[in-house]
Amino acid sequence: MKVLNDFKPRINNAELRKHLCLSSGSEEWKKVQALIERGLPLIKPKCVYKACYIKQKNSDTVVLEGISFKSRVLRKNLEAAEKAFPFVVTIGDGLEKEAKAEADFLEQYYIDIIGNVVLQDVIKDLRAHLQNEYKLEKISYMSVGSLKDWPIQQQQQLFSLLGDVYQAIGVQLAPSMLMHPTKSESGIFFPTEVTFLNCQLCPRKDCPSRKAAFDKEMAREYGVLGV
Ligand code: SF4
Repeated sequence: MKVLNDFKPRINNAELRKHLCLSSGSEEWKKVQALIERGLPLIKPKCVYKACYIKQKNSDTVVLEGISFKSRVLRKNLEAAEKAFPFVVTIGDGLEKEAKAEADFLEQYYIDIIGNVVLQDVIKDLRAHLQNEYKLEKISYMSVGSLKDWPIQQQQQLFSLLGDVYQAIGVQLAPSMLMHPTKSESGIFFPTEVTFLNCQLCPRKDCPSRKAAFDKEMAREYGVLGV
């Protein structure tokens, strides 16, 4: 298991404004900027990952280092791959605590969204690290629990494959299979020729975090239409 803890926290202002629907000259945006200044020192990005050879591929399972993951979508995504990179990233619990201590609900909401945007940038940093380290032109990832096809219960397998994630970066898996700190993400990166996004296969309506439109044809091709 490799640990990365030297990512610098940064805020993608354009992305944050888009999520909050705020213009750069607005009074609300000034408030958000003050929150960023307060929150930035509390953000501690960390990540663990493993480079795993794919030992076995069955009809709807893949086996990494003796641990089996059941997902038709993951299996298809790993069709041509020899290696995959299970990971957990977090920004720590600093912002979470700050939001809890904040009496103003709107500011709590702003802090929460700041955390989401920073977390996405940490995932981008991990992506760049993997591409550089393993000379991979293009990679995509799937998050555990983001699709019905790959249920959240498989977090257990992911955590046991990685080892002592809590000791390494302070992320704990609750019996509900959710992670603490909550601003954490887990999944598997894999080499790909065409960018894959979980959202392309997710039919959920009105999701504020959607990154790509639902693609019915693609869902049919993956065998998960209506699943
Ligand atoms: S649409 Fe929303 S819930 Fe569905 S995979 Fe994308 S971010 Fe997750």
